[in-house]
Amino acid sequence: MTGYIHSLESMGLVDGPGVRCVVFLQGCPLRCLYCHNPDTQTAEGGEAVEPEALVRRLLRFRPYFDRSGGGVTFSGGEPLLQPEFLAECLAWLHRAGVHTCLDTSGAGLGAYEDILRHTDLVLYDVKHEDPEHYQRITGRSMERTLDFVEAVRQAGTPMWVRHVVVPGLTDQEVHLAALRRYVDTLPNVQRVELLPFHKLGAEKYRGLGRTDPLAEVPAMDPERCSKLQEHWFSDFNR
Ligand code: SF4
Repeated sequence: MTGYIHSLESMGLVDGPGVRCVVFLQGCPLRCLYCHNPDTQTAEGGEAVEPEALVRRLLRFRPYFDRSGGGVTFSGGEPLLQPEFLAECLAWLHRAGVHTCLDTSGAGLGAYEDILRHTDLVLYDVKHEDPEHYQRITGRSMERTLDFVEAVRQAGTPMWVRHVVVPGLTDQEVHLAALRRYVDTLPNVQRVELLPFHKLGAEKYRGLGRTDPLAEVPAMDPERCSKLQEHWFSDFNR
């Protein structure tokens, strides 16, 4: 079975515990206003790979990630858009004793049981807790994401929640209070990370000849983001 990957990062430090090999899969059903990887969105293109060959490649980095308590993270794009390929890669990695993470918005195509069976940690990228705002930010309905979260609940997989804080869009106190209430309903949350919106995607939009939807919005002040994190979620990350 063939999968399509956008790129590989061999020494990732922010997508799960320890040093991680991060596999960015090609294609995403969402069109988040603040996407900084617009080049991963289209389902066309990407490098064609077979699960076994990809895993062999990833295992070459094993000395780095094993030593640090790390492993392999599947990200995107949206990894759940290639469910069979993803499930097979995860199963191969588990057979090799590698820790696996799934970085996802939850907007997938099903087959979650097979995927979660071999996922040690879900990094759940919460776009918004409110369906209307979710639709406004991503251009899609929240239904698929709700189904995925239910599957995680049933599988009992540990979860880290991540949320991008964008000035004027997701930085209001009233929204963060609602986000906190939403997080309290989620299963197995071990950690919550508020991520400050940055402008690294601007160049990519230019390169693709596309309009950056948030061209006029400034980057989020990282210090203010840390304060919001401390105020709303300090009890999660001790
Ligand atoms: S889910 Fe991620 S890759 Fe997809 S559009 Fe949103 S930010 Fe971009």
